Amino acid sequence: TTSNEIGWNFDNSYSQLPNTFFKSQKPTPVRSPKLIILNQSLATSLGLEVQALQRENGIAVFAGNQIPEGASPLAQAYAGHQFGHFTMLGDGRAVLLGEQITPQGERFDIQLKGPGRTPYSRGGDGRAALGPMLREYIISEAMHALGIPTTRSLAVVSTGEIVNRETNLPGAILTRVASSHLRVGTFQYAAKWGTLEELQILADYTIKRHYPEVEGDENRYLSLLQAVIKRQAELIAKWQLVGFIHGVMNTDNMTISGETIDYGPCAFMDTYDPATVFSSIDKEGRYAYGNQPYIAVWNLARLAEPLLPLIHENQEQAVEMAQDALSNFEQLYKSNWLAGMRSKLGLFNEEDEDGALVDDLLSMMQKYHADYTNTFRALSFEKLEDTSLFGNSEFTEWHERWKARLGRQEETQASSQELMRNSNPAVIPRNHRVEEALEAAVDGDFSVMERLLDVLSKPFEHSLDQEEYCKLPEPSNQPYRTFC
Ligand code: AMP
Ligand code: MG
Ligand code: MG
Repeated sequence: TTSNEIGWNFDNSYSQLPNTFFKSQKPTPVRSPKLIILNQSLATSLGLEVQALQRENGIAVFAGNQIPEGASPLAQAYAGHQFGHFTMLGDGRAVLLGEQITPQGERFDIQLKGPGRTPYSRGGDGRAALGPMLREYIISEAMHALGIPTTRSLAVVSTGEIVNRETNLPGAILTRVASSHLRVGTFQYAAKWGTLEELQILADYTIKRHYPEVEGDENRYLSLLQAVIKRQAELIAKWQLVGFIHGVMNTDNMTISGETIDYGPCAFMDTYDPATVFSSIDKEGRYAYGNQPYIAVWNLARLAEPLLPLIHENQEQAVEMAQDALSNFEQLYKSNWLAGMRSKLGLFNEEDEDGALVDDLLSMMQKYHADYTNTFRALSFEKLEDTSLFGNSEFTEWHERWKARLGRQEETQASSQELMRNSNPAVIPRNHRVEEALEAAVDGDFSVMERLLDVLSKPFEHSLDQEEYCKLPEPSNQPYRTFC
């Protein structure tokens, strides 16, 4: 098989940037690669031949054992605030093969995650374990199906090698697809270690790649900042609406494109509680569910800082302009979130009291320990079984208010219910289901994962055979914990 038969069609625009932004780096070959999972629909949309990808030479590319024609592998440099502390980072366990140009002319980064050491690996081995790579595959694809901008997962191969993470684990490599891997941290890196000219080249590159509509603006760097703020406000609102907790919102894990990236300790909330944290290292709850919008705007301020010298030659004026832009985040976020909440409650029009209606429901959900996803699902179907929430007179009062509110719009009850069904997922990647799928997969049985992926690919379908995936885990006295 040649690269041409597979359909690889690489361009390498990132490698044309000043070389402070990357180091050329080939993946380190692995012993005996095996294809664990291939995302066939994604492959097809990228212009790749599914059959050819599944043959030995196709798999060899996912394993880093073969560099496809036209690729120019490299590790990207970036910095970032990790839990508030600024650090030099970079792709310590990732290699960008290049940018696949699709038959539609779109450009996507093709990156191997876990391909061996790079100049940015510090003490790490540059490798990844099978469980966490499959976890990223499952959750990122679930996010995509939920309509949330995200990096995608094209394939996972096992390497036939062992990685040591306190215990010995099977090694794996994930092929990640992204509209780019430019991060807030890429700009932080440029401002700290690049020249002003290099910073400007990066900003112009970013505009061309992600926000070409601002290219002709009078102050295109301010426009860039405003555009990223808007995309991130939309993204975080979508996270909140489905109960997604990223878990490690460091500035190196926030994209410029507005795609969700870095599926490490992320997880979906069950019981509604803004203080929910799953990550074992997030001891102080910095990245708790309810904090995510605040962290996002803090991170965006870290993006504004490096842009200041480009925004205005007078730094005081630049700061004022950047602060203005940042102050829009809250309103942008809230309006996106409230619009989403209206849909979740079947509301088409707007009334002043809608915010209070939503807040009151959420407070009750918290007070009565209601499951976030299932509460909205039950409301969508009017299946208000006698739970601690629905069985309560406080809820009955709220329910009457909501019904009255629904009655004050022109749309029929049927169209309201349809809106709710399309806005409230039946299925999310429940933590116990994901764990169960990963455990089986690591033992060599991939059927549990495949079935889960199938259900997660149609989260709004509300069919009977999905019912078992809506169930909550057995009560446990040990809280669910995730790891980076
Ligand atoms: P993350 O917390 O996933 O955003 O990763 C933070 C940094 O650690 C990034 O620079 C990663 O490339 C690096 N890193 C994570 N795991 C490894 C590893 N096994 N080997 C080398 N670098 C790693
Ligand atoms: Mg990261
Ligand atoms: Mg990570």
